[in-house]
Amino acid sequence: MNVLPRLSHIISSIPFKFPPKWFKDIKSFFTQFFWNNKKPRIGYNKLIIPRSMGGLGVPDIFQYYLSFNAKYPLSWAYNNDFPIGSWQWLEQSVMPENGNITLASMWYCPKPPSLLNNIIIQFSCSIVKQLHRRLGIEGLSLPSCPIWGNPILSAGGRTLRNNIWQRAGIMSVGQIYKDHTLPFQQLKNQYGLLHSSFLTYGQLAAVISKKCKDGATPASCPEVDQRLKQASLSSGVVSSIYGLLSKTAPSAYSPVQLAWAHDLNISLSASEWKSVWNSALYSSKCVRLRIIQFKILNRAYITPVTQAKMDKKHQALCWHECGKRGTLLHLLWECPAVKTLWLDVISFLIGLHKVILLDRRNRSGGYMMTVSVVSPTMKAIGKWSSK
Ligand SMILES: [Zn+2]
Repeated sequence: MNVLPRLSHIISSIPFKFPPKWFKDIKSFFTQFFWNNKKPRIGYNKLIIPRSMGGLGVPDIFQYYLSFNAKYPLSWAYNNDFPIGSWQWLEQSVMPENGNITLASMWYCPKPPSLLNNIIIQFSCSIVKQLHRRLGIEGLSLPSCPIWGNPILSAGGRTLRNNIWQRAGIMSVGQIYKDHTLPFQQLKNQYGLLHSSFLTYGQLAAVISKKCKDGATPASCPEVDQRLKQASLSSGVVSSIYGLLSKTAPSAYSPVQLAWAHDLNISLSASEWKSVWNSALYSSKCVRLRIIQFKILNRAYITPVTQAKMDKKHQALCWHECGKRGTLLHLLWECPAVKTLWLDVISFLIGLHKVILLDRRNRSGGYMMTVSVVSPTMKAIGKWSSK
């Protein structure tokens, strides 16, 4: 697929907003290509889910656009040392000196200072907003959120500044807040603060507690913070951000899961569903079987009922001529012809396991091992046959 690098090249070269229609058109070209100009049977939002999570890992151009453009704002936050002449160094140098807002803080509070009229920084901030929304975070929930020069934590309309605390090494929210603002005595002992710092402590505690009352949860997302930091330091920043975005994307599976739960009268926990989707593409070495499994799981398999819906000249009756409606459930388990097939499969498997048991019995120590491996399998088969 050499289309992706060509599109990525355009996205990475132009640091400006792309019109939404452009992404819409690309998506529609992709869909037309996949389904050969026919009506799509599996939504694009499911196909872009990573393969390890049950999707097909089809590239999402809009997500690439976010990842390419998030590269620089992400480095504002996590890489403080910008080499002279680098892009970030240039951005740092255009920040208004008397604005009391640091470049780093704009990753957490993506609102450029009013004195700054820079179209590229403004664009980066708009990307940060979208990224935060997708990752379900807000600036203060990241423990690395800076305390000083950050518009999130302002008092009387001004950002906070304190040289003594900064020299003591207290820079981020995660250092002073863990489920609640840490007691002054603890900070004093840990960072060697003086008694006179208590006033600043009082001010900080008041600002944070006001934020909490407004619904913020300071330093509550340490894992995302850590992953973002790792992404910013890795050599493949864009791929790391892309991976992070695709793994935290809202589940496109909910309607399918609900339909399965209704039809089979089961309720699976989130982790059980996760393992179902995880194994969706690894059930067999055979690509054809994997495609069948993928279609069945996504309920995109063409059954007589769907065929009849697509074209009125088809009948919605079972292919085995049992006279019942050919729904997916009927074709998989309920049809008498299929039930006979399953009984044959089960007796074949049971026969196979007995052979293994007898074979292994002769070897020392192997027997118990075989029994322990086979019994859960047998149990699973028993459960399956009673269905
Ligand atoms: Zn039937």
